[in-house]
Amino acid sequence: MTPPSTARLKQLDRDHHLHPFTDFKALGEEGSRIITSADGIYIHDADGNRILDAMAGLWCVNLGYGRQELVDAATEQLQQLPYYNNFFKTTHPPAVELAETLCRLAPAHMNRVFFTGSGSEANDTVLRMVRRYWALKGKPEKQWVIGRENGYHGSTVAGMSLGGMAPMHEQGGPCVPGITHIRQPWWFSEGRDMSPDEFGRVCAQALDERIQELGADKVAAFIAEPVQGAGGAIIPPDSYWPAIKEVLAKYDILLVADEVICGFGRLGEWFGSVHYGIEPDLMPVAKGLSSGYLPIGGVLVGDRVANTLIDEGGEFYHGFTYSGHPTCAAVALKNLQLMEQEGVVEHVRDVAGPYLAKRWKELEQHPLIGEARSLGLIGALEIAADKTTGQRFDKSLAVGNLCRDICFETGLVMRSVGDTMVISPPLVISVEQIDELVDLARAALDETARRLEARGVTLDPSMETLA
Ligand SMILES: *Cc1c(COP(=O)(O)O)cnc(C)c1O
Repeated sequence: MTPPSTARLKQLDRDHHLHPFTDFKALGEEGSRIITSADGIYIHDADGNRILDAMAGLWCVNLGYGRQELVDAATEQLQQLPYYNNFFKTTHPPAVELAETLCRLAPAHMNRVFFTGSGSEANDTVLRMVRRYWALKGKPEKQWVIGRENGYHGSTVAGMSLGGMAPMHEQGGPCVPGITHIRQPWWFSEGRDMSPDEFGRVCAQALDERIQELGADKVAAFIAEPVQGAGGAIIPPDSYWPAIKEVLAKYDILLVADEVICGFGRLGEWFGSVHYGIEPDLMPVAKGLSSGYLPIGGVLVGDRVANTLIDEGGEFYHGFTYSGHPTCAAVALKNLQLMEQEGVVEHVRDVAGPYLAKRWKELEQHPLIGEARSLGLIGALEIAADKTTGQRFDKSLAVGNLCRDICFETGLVMRSVGDTMVISPPLVISVEQIDELVDLARAALDETARRLEARGVTLDPSMETLA
């Protein structure tokens, strides 16, 4: 049977497929791009374009596309035992081996893992666990979980509620009760009237104040991404995490570090928490765990919570059909083994991360860019109408989306979050490929500037320096 033509696929997509995080009507009018194959850090579309995927799919294809070892791991497991569950006192080798490997790679105090099918399910599990933990400790009134505005913890009802994405709350509410949000440590957007370090401390102070308002005896946990991903690759000021750590130490409150993006090498350590020297009680993981080849997530559980759930909890009434799915677990296990064998985390920490930092910072010279920041292999560009004050372009211009569309046309996947451009490339990217990425990004910025001018937008006079 011959597969449908590209035109036919696009029509069928319009007719039948509701895409995630998409304006259905607008997409129906524009039509979608059909990705047909990929290798290394490049994807290929049905129209014959080769595109450098600087988002690693959705922050997940850390080992890059086309890794035969992962294909083989899946094939072998599908033949051996495609599916069996972990309920009712059973398990299978891939789930056990993956659990052991994860706990070996995690900080020393984390020795248990609960598997899920995704990052959202991992955060649902987090909410169940922290409330269960405090109930078992005889403090059932410790219910509140504090998250952050513009944080992202997934799209299930609990994930959405823990996250601080206002548009999601507006559509999906009312949210799960007992969740509240404090301000985010986004210096470029919210902290420019003070130094980054001052601002970091002010944001941590907001946590202290919220805890006092709610009463420490009512607060179960604080949840945050070490570096906010979906919010716009927001790297907190250096002062932020140490100050947060101090606040949490003052009160008896659990720390949940959402490692769904930062985990598995993105920041140049196995976990973002290690980079920042924080010791979370729980770490939800997903995405890079399997390099995105198959869906799998989990929650790494520190000894304090795990021992209570084990020793005092009885049955924990929670789990998913696909918790620890053998084929997904086999691929995740192989993915971690390859990362270890190939020194991928060291490559990010010692080679690719520092090189990207240097090349990426050069883009700050571009007239459209107010700030270029990166850490490990996550980075962002803040597009601004005025470089010095950081003032944004008029919202109606949708400059971020314009730039993103130009990137796609010119062979680069770079995501836009408002007027923040974001990258999170495969961790195996080479220095030559980083050069290619930066060149493509600069060309896209130049083209964005030209199109703005063509629409009559007056740009910063320094735009004359453009070729
Ligand atoms: C993507 C993401 C999630 C949700 O993961 P899904 O697998 O999409 O459910 C949760 N937390 C963070 C930090 C994420 O980036």
